[in-house]
Amino acid sequence: MGKQLSMWTQGEDLPLFSGTAQRAAVETFQPAPEVVQETWATCRACKDTGRIGRRFCNCEAGVKAWEAGRGDPVTTDAIALSSGTVAGLIGSNRYPEIKAAQAGLVGWCIDHAGEYQNWQEAWEAYKAAEV
Ligand SMILES: [Zn+2]
Repeated sequence: MGKQLSMWTQGEDLPLFSGTAQRAAVETFQPAPEVVQETWATCRACKDTGRIGRRFCNCEAGVKAWEAGRGDPVTTDAIALSSGTVAGLIGSNRYPEIKAAQAGLVGWCIDHAGEYQNWQEAWEAYKAAEV
């Protein structure tokens, strides 16, 4: 490390500029972004259908399924809420409860599309109705 640093700071010629042609390694470089995307899209909850019963799933497929439908922005936000945010809302870190609460909120948003300015309003109304 120290040796390399001193080479740079002293401004000596790098191999790239030595006049010798570099061997191209470009042909061996094969990025595979599609594979990464497929892995990301796989959802155990909805099997990538985006739906769990009549609800939209809290995953990328669920968001896409919803946006392909009515596209209510409050519902889209509700679907995209993080587990941590929902945990704070319900006062529980238990994942099944988080998923259930979020599914309930998303369903509520779908049933009341256009009635709320944001997901926080929808959550207050959902919580009041559930009690
Ligand atoms: Zn899903």
